[in-house]
Amino acid sequence: MATILVIAPAYEGHVGRTSLELLGGARRIGEARGMEVVAALLGKGAGAAASQMWQYGVKRVYVADHPSILLGELEAFYLASLEACRAANPGVVLLLADSVGREVGPRLAHRLGGGIVTECIDVQAGQDGEVTFLRPVYGGKAIATYRLVNFPVVVTVKPHTMEVPAEMPVSGETIPLELSMDPEGLKTRVLEVVSEEVTGVKLEDAPVVVGGGRGIGGPEGFQLLGELARLLKGAVGASRPPADAGWVPPTWQIGQTGKTIRPDLYIAVGISGATQHIAGVSGAKVVVAINKDPEAPIFKVAHLGVVADYRKVIPPLIQKIKEIVGT
Ligand SMILES: Cc1cc2nc3c(=O)[nH]c(=O)nc-3n(C[C@H](O)[C@H](O)[C@H](O)COP(=O)(O)OP(=O)(O)OC[C@H]3O[C@@H](n4cnc5c(N)ncnc54)[C@H](O)[C@@H]3O)c2cc1C
Repeated sequence: MATILVIAPAYEGHVGRTSLELLGGARRIGEARGMEVVAALLGKGAGAAASQMWQYGVKRVYVADHPSILLGELEAFYLASLEACRAANPGVVLLLADSVGREVGPRLAHRLGGGIVTECIDVQAGQDGEVTFLRPVYGGKAIATYRLVNFPVVVTVKPHTMEVPAEMPVSGETIPLELSMDPEGLKTRVLEVVSEEVTGVKLEDAPVVVGGGRGIGGPEGFQLLGELARLLKGAVGASRPPADAGWVPPTWQIGQTGKTIRPDLYIAVGISGATQHIAGVSGAKVVVAINKDPEAPIFKVAHLGVVADYRKVIPPLIQKIKEIVGT
């Protein structure tokens, strides 16, 4: 029987939250089509992460624990993914649409002789067994729906766009993958990994994000947003113009060509609400917009809106929060 194969990096024995998000989509397809969900964990020390998969109902876990599969290493990751596909005979392969998955997904689809849906933001399955994949198109202005017709298909899913499913513990097994990979023969090699400097909570993981746009007017205004974010135990993000202008680091950019976030609360300050920005925040549970233009499109997606100059709103808000929670 064809399976649904979730391929996840597992460096040093840990699977990241975003890979767990893939399991929700996989489970929905499995239930609709009566297919088993299996996983392949790839990376140095990957075997120790198998229990994380069992916790989410995946019984069969293929493991490629190889010293050449390192963070950012494409070639080794691809060869291990191919080996996992040979072992698991998947009808559907799910991968993260991150820097590795974006390269590996199309190559896998080609080698499997299948189709591919890239940059997917949701996987839906009906009771009639129909499975659809949703993907933003035309610069995020529309959502295209792809129906699953033929197997195999490779699907890359944007991180932070789907919920981690509920736990469903099972007692599972690990199946080691035999890799005949010669480290010297690999076409690419990771020479150095430079970690992003983060003080406080990471933007992608923050429960509260304060996003600033061109309306902030310069780097100084972002200090004010930083103060608000700190009090709310959150992180600061930005639309593209502040990142382009160098007011904030490029890693703060949220949107179609930036990060995708799913905070409980997103406070958009001086941001107009272009579709390319909204593409990165559509998973936010509550959106509050502060903008001096009552016609700004951000108010169409905001749950709560404040029409005002942010300089008149944020300082008293900070003051009030300090009174409630202290400094
Ligand atoms: C292919 C492509 C990819 C893109 N990817 C991204 C992306 O990933 N992320 C992204 O953000 N954009 C992206 N963009 C750019 C996007 O189209 C918009 O240009 C951008 O999001 C606008 O940023 P903004 O809202 O900060 O600026 P603006 O559209 O200029 O809006 C500024 C807002 O601030 C308000 N304002 C001004 N002063 C104040 C004040 N004192 N107080 C309160 N409000 C004030 C104004 O009323 C206005 O609504 C992309 C564009 C393209 C073509």
